[in-house]
Parts: sequence; C-alpha cells; structure tokens
Amino acid sequence: MKLTLNSNPDGGYDKKVVEEARAFAQEQVAPHAEKWEREGTYPEKTVRQAMAKFGALLVPKSMGGRGETATTFFHVLEEFGKVDIGFSISFVVQCNFTLIVSMGQNAGLRDRYLPDLMTGKRLGSFCLTEPQAGSDAAALETMATKKGDGWEISGRKSWIISAAQAEVVGIFAKTDERPGTGSIALFVSEAGRPGLKAGKPYELISGNATNVTDLTLEKFPVKSDEMMFEPGAGFKAAMQALDAARIGISAICNGALAAGLDHALDYAGKRKAFGSSLLEKQGMQWEFADHVTQLEAARLLTYRAAALLDRGEASPVMSAHAKKFANHAVVDGLVWAMRSMGANGSLRSSPLARLLGGAQLLFQTDGTPEILNLVIGRSLLKSRS
Ligand SMILES: Cc1cc2nc3c(=O)[nH]c(=O)nc-3n(C[C@H](O)[C@H](O)[C@H](O)COP(=O)(O)OP(=O)(O)OC[C@H]3O[C@@H](n4cnc5c(N)ncnc54)[C@H](O)[C@@H]3O)c2cc1C
Repeated sequence: MKLTLNSNPDGGYDKKVVEEARAFAQEQVAPHAEKWEREGTYPEKTVRQAMAKFGALLVPKSMGGRGETATTFFHVLEEFGKVDIGFSISFVVQCNFTLIVSMGQNAGLRDRYLPDLMTGKRLGSFCLTEPQAGSDAAALETMATKKGDGWEISGRKSWIISAAQAEVVGIFAKTDERPGTGSIALFVSEAGRPGLKAGKPYELISGNATNVTDLTLEKFPVKSDEMMFEPGAGFKAAMQALDAARIGISAICNGALAAGLDHALDYAGKRKAFGSSLLEKQGMQWEFADHVTQLEAARLLTYRAAALLDRGEASPVMSAHAKKFANHAVVDGLVWAMRSMGANGSLRSSPLARLLGGAQLLFQTDGTPEILNLVIGRSLLKSRS
C-alpha cells in the first residue's frame, strides 16, 4: 500500500518535476542511504547530482533558473524525505544557500556564484549558528574587522552542514560591537583561503550523511566586494531564508512520515496474529487512521504555507504552524510505525530507525517548536495590542 501524494488544495505544482524527483530519490538515494548513515559518508556526488537536476527550481528565470513554484519544490523535498532525512537536509541546505545568494543585494557577487551553486558545480555552507548562539541567532559573536580594502573575519561556527566540502562559504558576522542585529552582515566568498578550518564531523544518533561540523575562522580574509548583505540586512535575509526553509523541513517530515507509515502498513497487512492480519484489527486500523489524519493535516499546512509564498504573501506565522505540526506528527507517527511492527520494528534492516533518528534532528533545524511558538505567540500578542 502506498500513500499517494496529497492533492494540493491551491493547485500549482509541476507533476513531471515531482516524478523526476521520486525516481531520483528511489534510484540514487534509497539504495545507499543506510550505508551513508552507518559510515558517516557525506554523499557529495549525489548532492551535486541532485543540485544539477533540482537546485535551480526556485531561482528566477531572469537569473538563469527554472522559476518553478515553491509548491513544486516542496513536493520534491517530500519525495526526498521519503527515502532519507540526512540526504534531504544536505540537499536542502544547498538550496537555502542558493536562495539567499539569489536574493543578494550585491548583484556582481550574486552573478559570480549563482550559476555554479544552483547546478551543484560548487557547494556552499550556510554559517549562522555558533556555540553560544543557536535559537538566539542574534547573539552571534563572529566579527568582521576592516583590513585594508576588505575584511578579516574571526569566530567559531557550529553545526554547519558540508563545512568540509563547500567551495563557497556564507558567513554571518558582525561588523562592529553594537548589540542587536543592526551590525550583522552576510559575506560570501571562496572557502579555499587560509584562516578557515572545519572540525571533525559530529557523531549523531542519525543524519550522519550531513557531515555536520564546527568551523573556525581565524583572520579569514574577505575582499571588499564580498559583502552580500549589508549590516542589518544580513540578519533580515537570514530570517527570511529560514521562514522559507521551515516549509521545506515540513515537507521532509511529511515524506518521512508517509514512508514510515507505508512501511508499517505493508507489514501489518501481512503479519497474522489471532487468526487474521494485524491490519484487520480495529485497534490497529484506528491507530494508523489517526496518524494518517496527522499526515494529511501536516500536508495541508505545508502546502498552504507554500501557496502563500507562491502568491507573494509569505507568512512567517504559517511557516511556523506548518513546521511545528509536521515535526510532532512525524516523530509521533514513526514511533507508532515502529511499535506496530512489534520486535521487528526495532531491526536496523527496516528504514524506520534511520527515519526516526533523522526526524528527531528536524526539531532543531531552522527553528525548534518552542521558537516557532515564539513566532506564533508574538503574532497573537500583536493582534491584541
Ligand atoms: C542536523 C543539523 C544541521 C544543522 N545545520 C546548520 C547549518 O548548516 N548552518 C547553521 O547555521 N546551523 C545549522 N544547524 C543549527 C541549528 O540551526 C540550531 O541547532 C538551532 O538553531 C537550535 O540551536 P541550539 O541547538 O543551540 O539550541 P538552543 O538554542 O540552545 O535551544 C535548546 C532548547 O531550548 C529551547 N529554547 C531556546 N530558546 C527558547 C525560548 N526563548 N523559549 C523557550 N524555549 C527556548 C529550544 O527550543 C531547545 O529546545 C543545524 C542543526 C542540526 C541539528
């Protein structure tokens, strides 16, 4: 039994692109995902291939991209989420970086990097988080100091995907000691210069294909024309990119939940106990039914947020609703999927352990449920003041 793609309530996605993504995920990612996970391999070649096929979807045609709808792109992510979360995050961070470069204030710098980033010829790293500044990204301390015509950047970043592989680096840094976000700029430059050092990949409970690491900057030289967003605008761009990225994480959650439930439903249809299949027991049907309802609700929120983005009415609050709901739905649903398979649910030979470990990581990426509640809560306060 396969849970089919939900119809998009607002229409507007390219089915052919989504079918290509499904084929790519099944043929290029699924057969290798467990090996990448166990060996902690960053699937560099496959990430580059995925970028070559799907990295330009969101880039406007005027910039050489495909100008597809966000809804199409999120359907692509749902297909990737069905096979592996580690790979999906590795891919989506490249797309987020490409998106922020395409939005850049510095047209010369944008045109220098965008063609290679959106086709996977070069990989980028999105360097916002620091050891002391996670959810509270405004507390970042990395400092860009004027040096001759350009800048020297020093500081420490943490939890950076593809930090060791990226050829292009996007660094959020302060340009002076002023408290607040008014001095936070985004610099984009070549990663291969002295002064930039990636640490060893963290050992994660799952999602090891991300090769997420620390990144140390010691007087990292940046040229005068490598400021993509000016002080103040850098932080706003990061927040705008995160709002869109949250919908992408929701789509990955939904894909993982659909795949996990499919896997467990196949098993429940075949496994006999007390004279009939598990799926024939009303108790089992009802539990599955509740999680399928959660999945459909998560998809509706995801594609509602996507449709608003496509209509030019991007809503940070709707992105927050979508991600928070999908985060909880996928973890609850995968825990049930494992439980419904009895002892067999715990075997590493099923994809559920990898999906569940990855789903747990998705609580942290691009805003935790608590931070999303801050966004929603502030909007409630504003509506009453
Ligand atoms: C797999 C993975 C990949 C990542 N990739 C990148 C990347 O490529 N680039 C990058 O820059 N970052 C990346 N990150 C970092 C991610 O953005 C941070 O983990 C996230 O911002 C949360 O920060 P933190 O982990 O420091 O948690 P903290 O901010 O320390 O939060 C800890 C807990 O406290 C809660 N909390 C915090 N503040 C509040 C509050 N005001 N009210 C209530 N509760 C609160 C949080 O919800 C959380 O549960 C990645 C993370 C993961 C897990």
